Parts: sequence; structure tokens; C-alpha cells
Amino acid sequence: MQKSVFRLSYLLPLLISAFAPWILLYFLANPSCMWPISNDEISKTHDVNLRAMVVGDLHIGGPTTVWFDRMRRDAFMKASFKRAFEKLRPDMLLILGDLSDWGRKSSKEEWNSVILRFKDMMIYFKGSQYHVIPGNHDIGDYYQITDTLLQQFTDSFPSLDEMGNSFFVLRNISFVSLNAMALACDHCSMHNSMKVAVEGYKIALQQAEPDDMYMSIEENQSADRHRHSIQDSSAGPVLLTHLPLYREDESVCGSLDIPICAPWHEVEGGCIHLLELSKKSSGHYKRQNYRKNIDMLSLNTTNYLLSALKPRLVLSAHAHRFCSRLLDTGTREVTVSTFTWRNRDDPSFLLVQFYKDGSYDIQQCFLVRESVVVLLHLFQGILLFVLLVFGGHRCWKLRKSNKLHLKS
Ligand SMILES: [Zn+2]
Repeated sequence: MQKSVFRLSYLLPLLISAFAPWILLYFLANPSCMWPISNDEISKTHDVNLRAMVVGDLHIGGPTTVWFDRMRRDAFMKASFKRAFEKLRPDMLLILGDLSDWGRKSSKEEWNSVILRFKDMMIYFKGSQYHVIPGNHDIGDYYQITDTLLQQFTDSFPSLDEMGNSFFVLRNISFVSLNAMALACDHCSMHNSMKVAVEGYKIALQQAEPDDMYMSIEENQSADRHRHSIQDSSAGPVLLTHLPLYREDESVCGSLDIPICAPWHEVEGGCIHLLELSKKSSGHYKRQNYRKNIDMLSLNTTNYLLSALKPRLVLSAHAHRFCSRLLDTGTREVTVSTFTWRNRDDPSFLLVQFYKDGSYDIQQCFLVRESVVVLLHLFQGILLFVLLVFGGHRCWKLRKSNKLHLKS
């Protein structure tokens, strides 16, 4: 009797502590937000047309990532997609490039393995719309792109054409996704092919643009800072590009999004170390250095796209930092931060809610911090160690008392 009570009181906490990280991950992967709700009267009467979840920079690990990091980051992203799908039920998921960390240097087998792991993460979105665009880590920067790399990517995502572009209309909203790295090559043949593609989309948009996207200015009212009406732009397409549009620096963004990081995070540019969070206001952290055609499109290409496509909204990625800015043309560009723990402690994604009048709301949603999960892992390790030592000691004492009992 004493033995079975001991086994139960010992094994139960041992089992719970062993599986705790996976149980906790399910609850911790719960996204921080719900769909944007505006309180103004206009919003109450405007019907929601389409709800999109937007993520960027998954950086699914390749052969250079330690297997343990690969395993836990994959598990985290899969759990985050699952919880987001269960809670938010988006109509579509947009993945704005850098699906892989090592795609541009992968062998065919390594690339196929990344795609298999990505499809495993997407299992909850099976049957829903999801659209992936290429990033520089997938096919290379403009000077690295080869036909093989491009074909490897487009073969994996058949909705893209052979240049890695796409045009589709969903619930009367037009989406144009462009291979930003091919566009970044200002004077090469690839750039000319991209211009031909953009001109084709321009004509398609003129033919497809529905009349009900337009509304009178009197009908437009903006109630809070996240709400963007079609006063901000024409009712053009939503432009999807991995590289952000040209920017002098981050001062154009509404607020500076400095990544919070630990020593193990791979962050380009400055970041706030976890232990130095109190210094956030000191302002001595470096701003991101945007290299033309590598980290952003050139001014010429940016102006060309804005004038040819007249997008209502531009969604970009790559910087691993959130940025929302209103361009001189009235178009808003929103850059989504990274979805993985590889690049910062506090990954996030976007919720974009389109209304039938052509306006939209955007909200940034944060995922659980890696440092919180690391602390829980440490706690679990200590608990397991204590339980094993305590259990071993109790076993030894029980055996000893049994031996004495038998002798007597
Ligand atoms: Zn990138």
C-alpha cells in the first residue's frame, strides 16, 4: 500500500513535469488579440468582407540550425498557427516571404524537407486560402537568383507564375504579389520581365476593378488610429512584397519598433537586450540600416509600383520590425515583424480586416516571448531533477527497510 501511494505521488508529478512544456506551449501559443473592432457607428454598420492573417519571415531552419532549435521553433510555429486558426478563423493566410532560413543555399533534398515541415505547420489551414510569396532567404538577393532557385520555389507553390508573381481576386479585393528581389535588380533583364508583368497586372486591374470599391468622401470616417479608410488611397489592389518600399530610415514609421532580444537571437542592427529593458527610453539603440535593393526597393522602383498599380495597401516583411506609414500618395504600407523566435524574443503577426466599403483595420498580434518559455523549461528541468533525486532516495530507503524486514 505504502509502495503504491509512493509510486502514484512520485510518478504523477514526474509525468506532468515531463510533458509540461508541450501542454504549456498549447496554452502559451494563444495569440494576444482578436479581430479589430471599431466603436464608431460607421463601423457597426459596415460589413466585414474579408479577414486575413498576415505573417512574415518564418525562417524555417536548415542544416545550419541546431536540431534542438529547429525542433522547438517548428513546434512553436505549428502551435501558434493551430491556436490562431482555432481562435481567429481567418478567411486567408498571407505569408510574406523568407519561409526558409537556408532555402537559397539548400540542396533539393534539404528544400523538400523544409516544404514538408512547412506543410505540417499548415495542416490546420488545409482547405483555407493561403498564399506564399518568395523572400531573399528562399531564392536569394537580386544578384543571387538563379533559374533553379526560382523554379524550386515556384514548383512548391503553383499559384505563383514562373517569375514568382501572382494576381488574384478574393471577395472583390484584388491582390498583386511580386517577386521583390527580381524587382530590386534595377537594370537587369529580370527587372524588365518584372515590368512587363506589372504592366499586365495594371491592365488586369483596370478590367477587374469593381465599382463598389469606390465610395463618397462623406461616407468615410476614421474613428481610431488603426482604422484606414479609402480616403487614404484609391481603392486599388493590395500589394504584397517581401522587401519594403523605399524609406530613408525608420523615422517614417509611426513608432520605432526595436526588437527585444537575448544573446542567442540573430538580429541585424540594434536590439534591446532582455536584461536592459529599463534602458528602452535612453534612445541609444541603433536603427536598422536599410540597404538599397537588398533590404528595400529603390526609390525609382517604389515610385513606379505606386504609380502603375495605385495600391490601397502595401504589405511587406523582411525587416523583422513592425512599421506602419502613410506614403505621400495616400497609400499605407505596413511591414509585418517576424513570426519566429530566431530573430527576436517577441514575434508577432498582423490581422487585416477588410470592409465591404473598401476600408480596412489592421492590428498587430504578439506571440509568447521565447524568454518566458525558456524560463519554464528551466523550471521544468529543475523540477525533474528534484523529483528524480527525491524518488531515487525514497526507493533506496524503501529497499533498505524491506531488506531489514526480511532479515528480521
Ligand atoms: Zn528577407
